[in-house]
Amino acid sequence: MWIVLQRGMQIMTIRLDGKALAAKRKKEIACKVKALSVKPGLAVLLVGEDPASRIYVNSKRKDCEECGFYSEEYTLPAEIQETALLDLIRELGAREDIHGILVQLPLPGELNEKRILEAIPPEKDVDGFHAANMGRLMLGQEGFLPCTPAGVMELLEEHQIELEGKHCVVVGRSNIVGKPMALLLLQRNATVTICHSRTRGLETLCRQADVLVTAVGRVGLITPEMVRDGAVIVDVAMNRNAEGKLCGDCLPEVYEKASAFTPVPGGVGPMTRAVLMENTMKACLMRQK
Ligand code: NAP
Repeated sequence: MWIVLQRGMQIMTIRLDGKALAAKRKKEIACKVKALSVKPGLAVLLVGEDPASRIYVNSKRKDCEECGFYSEEYTLPAEIQETALLDLIRELGAREDIHGILVQLPLPGELNEKRILEAIPPEKDVDGFHAANMGRLMLGQEGFLPCTPAGVMELLEEHQIELEGKHCVVVGRSNIVGKPMALLLLQRNATVTICHSRTRGLETLCRQADVLVTAVGRVGLITPEMVRDGAVIVDVAMNRNAEGKLCGDCLPEVYEKASAFTPVPGGVGPMTRAVLMENTMKACLMRQK
């Protein structure tokens, strides 16, 4: 795909292929695991039977197999008592063979997400959602990074997308995507604007972006008029369009204006999974030191 910039100059649009990079990363991890005396171990807890969560958990199991990890999966009833869930997390937290613990979100019912995530020992928090790891990210200290924004950064780095001094606009401010994404871009010396549902003039702000990261979850939110020619577009969202097909927040014509873009599916999603494997490997190696 080619796009025409001002003064007739043409540049090629780069597809930021997360599927290919994630496969490469997982192969690298599998090679490293073969040389270890201990297998990295990941425990995944699924509470209730949300179909989308079930798909995510299944793919995590497959990733663990590909990487040569040991994995355990707990499918727990939606009615589980919070104390029972906390007890299980504590038990897993004390085990030598489990290096990473992941509680699949969202949690059903009355379960207190904050209390449950905080029960995971920070050194086993491979999702990077514990307040200790979030705090380290804020302070620019070493810790576990949330998988999705870290995956985006790896993808941008792999394609040598320059961030220093660039205006990066992040649409969405959730704790798991938008906020950490903005911090990681800031760490790379980008100038960052964060937008959300109360932002005024979203269109104008998006049009100023050299790099636009959108993580909202709304089909067609970002239209071609909101994007300048040659911008880098990172579409984190995973939506279903009217035909039931997976799509991001951007209309397809948006990608045509970009100098680089992440496809949906096949962009950010696979990178999120790859970073989970990297974090689990890191947790295992930290334990051996
Ligand atoms: P979330 O917690 O629902 O947050 C959505 C954010 O979008 C909120 O900050 C919200 O603002 C903002 N927003 C809502 N409507 C808006 C509007 N009209 N204009 C501007 N901002 C608006 O969602 P999330 O967990 O961050 O996920 C976002 C999307 O990414 C979803 O599609 C999700 O499926 C996808 N996702 C993908 C991956 C992956 O691996 N690819 C991983 C995680 C999430 P307020 O804060 O003001 O409410």
